[in-house]
Amino acid sequence: MKILVINCGSSSLKYQLINMEDESVIAKGLCERIGIEGSKLTHEPAGKDKVVIENAMPTHKTAIQMVMDALQNPEYGVIASTDEISAIGHRVLHGGKVYSDSIVVDEDVKRVIRECFDLGPLHNPANLMGIEACEAAMPGKPNVAVWDTGFGMAMPEKAYMYAIPHEYYEKYSIRRYGFHGTSHKFVSGEAIKFGGLDPKNAKVIVCHLGNGASVSASIGGKCVDTSMGLTPLEGLIMGTRSGDVDPAVVQFIANKEGKDVNEVLNILNKKSGVLGMSGGISSDFRDIENAKKEGNHLAEVALDAFIYRVAKYIGAYTAAMNGVDAIAFTAGVGENDKASRKAICEYLGYLGVKIDDEANDVRGKMRVISAADSKVKVMLIPTNEELAIARETKALI
Ligand code: AMP
Repeated sequence: MKILVINCGSSSLKYQLINMEDESVIAKGLCERIGIEGSKLTHEPAGKDKVVIENAMPTHKTAIQMVMDALQNPEYGVIASTDEISAIGHRVLHGGKVYSDSIVVDEDVKRVIRECFDLGPLHNPANLMGIEACEAAMPGKPNVAVWDTGFGMAMPEKAYMYAIPHEYYEKYSIRRYGFHGTSHKFVSGEAIKFGGLDPKNAKVIVCHLGNGASVSASIGGKCVDTSMGLTPLEGLIMGTRSGDVDPAVVQFIANKEGKDVNEVLNILNKKSGVLGMSGGISSDFRDIENAKKEGNHLAEVALDAFIYRVAKYIGAYTAAMNGVDAIAFTAGVGENDKASRKAICEYLGYLGVKIDDEANDVRGKMRVISAADSKVKVMLIPTNEELAIARETKALI
């Protein structure tokens, strides 16, 4: 069985064709600059050379058509026809209050994705376009929606309700949802298996530290709390997002700079985080680390603040669960940056966390990185959102 996984952003589309017999990737690729001049498709068939196809992609529909052509191309394709594809799994950002479990797309699912455009203004419209483009390109094939907010929907009310007038929850569904759900679910599940923990009761904290970053707490794979909120802006300091700030900062900047709320929110989303804190050096953590090594004070403060906030969330979530059995690091920084992992764990001595420096000297591999006498298992668990979406899709069809 082959499953095509589609992840549409506002101007991009990532895909993977996965053979579910052995969960291997048959081909993967990326469409960039959809709707913008200079669009291109980078297609990587397993065992063959990568190809870059430059062609106008005015819409996600044309992008999907190009992906279908690439997959079936006699030279660099990997399938003879789309008949070989059993189903398509889509990452969908926001299912609102309605959906948490993955589901086969029908008219009602599409209506909910549309109704959540306000909650995910950049992603939900693109996700819907991706689904409709697949329906047009492969009529009759099941499309499955896997919600990025799905995992966080298990949070109890005390964790998801904001302390604002209740009418806004009733009228507009304003609550904390959490994001990176596919990754948190996958990584916490793998951590339980790999760490030999009790699948029903294990208390696991997952630190998804990439350009977007979030922490989750779960007991037996069920989310107890997670750091992102109504939108992915809440929580940790990220590449370009501020994470938690006093909401009065918005009013203050707006008044001082003569900007409206949307403009200030744009600054908090796109010009803040380590990029903003470092005085504009970069949103890429490698650049920030290099600048710190060269003695740049702002870069040092940005990194210290990033690490400090992750450590604070781990402390808070340990309290929320009255303990923690395992802490798992994942995503770009979490999988590749041993210095950040060690610095975060140095705050956790009170929990009996001890890192094994030799074991921690690793990138992108599943591994226990804590010492044998550490009271909490610390692990590196590479995330694989595409595989998680493919597994959910297979389970549903
Ligand atoms: P992601 O969003 O998960 O793709 O993660 C992207 C982030 O991971 C970028 O900010 C990268 O700089 C960061 N990253 C990748 N490799 C390293 C590394 N070796 N050290 C620090 N950060 C890294």
